[in-house]
Amino acid sequence: MTALLDLQGLHRRFRVPEAAGRPAGWLHAVEDVSLTLGRGEALGLVGESGCGKSTLAGLVARLADPDQGRILFDGEDLARLPARRAAHAPWRRRIQMVFQDPGESLDPRLTAIQAVMRPLRRLNGLKGAAAETAARRALDRVHLPRSLHDRLPHQLSGGQLARVGIARAIAPGPDLLILDEPTSALDVSIQAVILTLLHDLRAELGLACLFVSHDLNVVRLVTDRVAVMYLGRLIETGPTARVFDAPAHPYTAGLIAAIPRIPAPGAPPPPRRRLAGEPASPIDPDPQRCRFEGRCPRAAAICRERMPQLAGQGARQVACHLPLADPV
Ligand code: SF4
Ligand code: MG
Repeated sequence: MTALLDLQGLHRRFRVPEAAGRPAGWLHAVEDVSLTLGRGEALGLVGESGCGKSTLAGLVARLADPDQGRILFDGEDLARLPARRAAHAPWRRRIQMVFQDPGESLDPRLTAIQAVMRPLRRLNGLKGAAAETAARRALDRVHLPRSLHDRLPHQLSGGQLARVGIARAIAPGPDLLILDEPTSALDVSIQAVILTLLHDLRAELGLACLFVSHDLNVVRLVTDRVAVMYLGRLIETGPTARVFDAPAHPYTAGLIAAIPRIPAPGAPPPPRRRLAGEPASPIDPDPQRCRFEGRCPRAAAICRERMPQLAGQGARQVACHLPLADPV
């Protein structure tokens, strides 16, 4: 069976104007990314902020156009249609997005029920009572009490807004949900509730998810597979549990070692291990050199001479000349 989503050689760069002491250049936000996502699968896209994960998610959601590459969704190349025309494409209903801050992504003038009815009208062609019934069903699914359906965003809590954002995304009946840091604007206690809700909805509706997050604890909890990005490039992919237990790329290993640990009862919090160094400039990077070379404890001469390409067997792949473990 073909993958639901098959990204092939995606590139997206941005022109950066001249600034103090630095000539104008190109920021390579997404560089040569190829990745697949199966039906009903949850894939986590991780990396430090600025690594290109949100840009990549935006390309898949067709909010922006790639400079190069294919975005095959159920075999159809979505990249052939410019993003500005994607709003009316037949597949639009099938790919939906949940945004980071629901308070900002919801129209302040629309009540919860109106916010959910809008895509049902536009994408599913539902009218009047039929749109309202379908919207109520979606809000019931996310457990927003009926007494809150007619409230405006400013009358709802953060957790309730997150539920409305999710209801709006699932209402049209998508096959793929793209979630960009969906819980990072929420209190920790609410985060867990919303993650459980997403987990249940995924199982119930058979949804595939592309889950963008810098929070590795969250990704470990909710995804089947993980893809790690560094300065625009994909550097490791594999089943989540295997990547977390035995990372193959030195950068992935550093990220995992830096996950905040929960202290034992009564004990002081364990020291937070930070990843050493800062990422190199994403502007006009050396195309021959491994992007992680300046921070990598394993760097050798070859790492400065040849860009490592993603390679491996099956689900486990790594882009490193000197990986930590055999990526099997
Ligand atoms: Fe480190 Fe070399 Fe691997 Fe890059 S290719 S991550 S510099 S060992
Ligand atoms: Mg982001």
